[in-house]
Amino acid sequence: MSIDLAFDREHIWHPYTSMLNPLPVYPVVAAEGCELILENGQRLVDGTASWWSAVHGYRHPELDKAVTEQLQHMAHVMFGGITHPQAIELCKQLIDITPASLSKVFLADSGSIAVEVALKIALQYWQGVGQADKTELISVRKGYHGDTFATMAVCDPVDSMHSMFQRLLPQHHFLPAPDCPFHQPYQANSIEPLRQLLQERHTKIAALIIEPVVQGYGGMRFYHPEYLKACRQLCDEYDVLLIADEIATGFGRTGKLFACEHADVAPDIMCLGKALTGGYMTMAATLCSDKLAIGVSQSEAGGLMHGPTFMANPLACAVANASVRLIRQNHWPEQVAAIEAQLTHELAPCRLGQGVSDVRVLGAIGVIEMTEPVQVAALQQLFVEQGVWIRPFNHLIYIMPPFTISSEQLTKLTAAMRLAVGAA
Ligand SMILES: *Cc1c(COP(=O)(O)O)cnc(C)c1O
Repeated sequence: MSIDLAFDREHIWHPYTSMLNPLPVYPVVAAEGCELILENGQRLVDGTASWWSAVHGYRHPELDKAVTEQLQHMAHVMFGGITHPQAIELCKQLIDITPASLSKVFLADSGSIAVEVALKIALQYWQGVGQADKTELISVRKGYHGDTFATMAVCDPVDSMHSMFQRLLPQHHFLPAPDCPFHQPYQANSIEPLRQLLQERHTKIAALIIEPVVQGYGGMRFYHPEYLKACRQLCDEYDVLLIADEIATGFGRTGKLFACEHADVAPDIMCLGKALTGGYMTMAATLCSDKLAIGVSQSEAGGLMHGPTFMANPLACAVANASVRLIRQNHWPEQVAAIEAQLTHELAPCRLGQGVSDVRVLGAIGVIEMTEPVQVAALQQLFVEQGVWIRPFNHLIYIMPPFTISSEQLTKLTAAMRLAVGAA
């Protein structure tokens, strides 16, 4: 099968691209282990885990088996008025591995939708408990929560191009991005803007939504767990819900099963996605406590008003079950710790690279931040020539490889990153 790149360029949108002047795309025909295979047979070591999702690598035998076995039963069935064994098993597993207070699960079809559902739960809850005035949300700058309208409204207002949609987006509150790096002593005054806002406005505020510890697409920033702990305390003090968007951080990526564990806090609502199916299929989940579920069910609507066509898709549930079982075999702590140590060591020379403003590593995430935006197409080509797949954006050259990557493969990635910043 030859790949019609001309058709692709003429007719197909890729993420965040122009139809007039799209960046080049590379034709991938297969993927296996931690490598992508191009049409011309070239193999690229994958530094992206397909955007944080393929944590066990590609074509994992257990995951392949879960999908093919499920196909013998059914690919899909509606979830209205019907349930099925894979959904039940998955929700049991998710309740088992997340904080004890989270006991109700909504299976959504993508991360953005899981966040939409989290926002609906928060707003319907306050309505259900007779505090319908609590409708405003708080978020932090440099945050990312999805591309749909409600999620865009809580993303960083600059990066998500709020100005373009200004009149269509609800106006929420934005705190400064947490200014207390993970690896430095905690600056307690970084939480003051939240305290002030809550003091002034808590009677109107439904929830604070935040990515725990790692801000992903908004800048790959790692903030101090004490900040998250303070968020939890202040939310409790002012009767505001805490929504943890663990879509990028969940399932071990930051060195804890969930990033909230760095701060030893449990959110009121947790969103999961990306690695949930081991990168096989689109699926996400929103978990909340009994208390919230009861409140939502007492609201005017009488239930949670969401129900996507492909809710709890059995194929996706089957592969998610297999992926979570692999996570629960508990090889990831050792794998992530080894990746973290190797990244720390091998990316350190990049600090002396040209135009580098920062180098940071947390868990299986390695980031080089540049002072200027990178030339994406040129860098991408350099990386492909080096036999690696790394997708830089804005000021960032970063990797979050599959946990199963070998140390030789990881060295190939870090060597290419060093080359890219002239620190080889
Ligand atoms: C990717 C991401 C989302 C959106 O998930 P999609 O599946 O792309 O809709 C939301 N929140 C965070 C933190 C993410 O990283």
